[in-house]
Amino acid sequence: MYTVKEMFYSLQGEGAQAGRPAIFCRFAGCNLWSGREQDRADAACNFCDTDFIGTDGVGGGKFADASAVVEAALALWPKDYLRHAYVIFTGGEPLLQLDPELLQAFKSAGFETAVETNGTLPLPADIDWVCVSPKGSSDIVISHGDELKLVYRQLDALPERFKDLNFDHFYLQPMAGSNELQQRQDCIEYCRQHPQWKLSLQTHKLVGIP
Ligand code: SF4
Repeated sequence: MYTVKEMFYSLQGEGAQAGRPAIFCRFAGCNLWSGREQDRADAACNFCDTDFIGTDGVGGGKFADASAVVEAALALWPKDYLRHAYVIFTGGEPLLQLDPELLQAFKSAGFETAVETNGTLPLPADIDWVCVSPKGSSDIVISHGDELKLVYRQLDALPERFKDLNFDHFYLQPMAGSNELQQRQDCIEYCRQHPQWKLSLQTHKLVGIP
């Protein structure tokens, strides 16, 4: 059984794959916050702006098995372009549910696969694109991958802590919220001074897509 908050077809907005069409499979649940406002202050991650509770989003639901999830994803992908099929597992924390069986089912159907994780849980083998986004003081167990995308500025997760990990791309992304313009300027300045890091913007919000 897989519990999916929402599943939709859009463009990746962030990081090195920005602009790429993808199926987003957003799993319900996270290990760093319950998703309830009354728990936010004490949560390991307390700036989340994603609703990941339940299954009531577009395309969400409880899926009995892996083939049911793949079937739902295939129904969203343009039929004549299956060779470009791309799925991003996100959440919530996708590694609470993404298992080898589901991954293999997507691969067998021709999908390239990607995950966006907080990095605190072990990774199934053979995911094509691994994006780790560390949150707060939580310990990450995934120390290599394609992209490390750090929401900036988290006082308990500063870039210096992650700069020696084995990732191909290092991104800073301004923390969303009332202070976002200042956060963006701070990211730009940090990247200018530490050119290992690149700026990631949430371009899907800029162009008004999900
Ligand atoms: S780890 Fe990600 S999904 Fe979980 S609470 Fe933090 S930002 Fe939200």
